[in-house]
Amino acid sequence: MDEIGICKVCHEDLAYIEEEGDWGVYVTCPICGSHSAICEYSGAENKAAAETEAIQMWNMGKIIAESRGE
Ligand SMILES: [Zn+2]
Repeated sequence: MDEIGICKVCHEDLAYIEEEGDWGVYVTCPICGSHSAICEYSGAENKAAAETEAIQMWNMGKIIAESRGE
């Protein structure tokens, strides 16, 4: 699996994989709340590929910045 890079919004190095039910995964930053899009998968055997895809999106800066105060 690829390494999860630093958060491009707050530049902290604490981002991690979060699971969305049993059908999707995404990378999220616990500091600023930014996250990648959810990568869907079907079947446990495809989960690792979805995680890799989420990490690659995160590392490329394809992330959604959480607006504060919502
Ligand atoms: Zn962040």
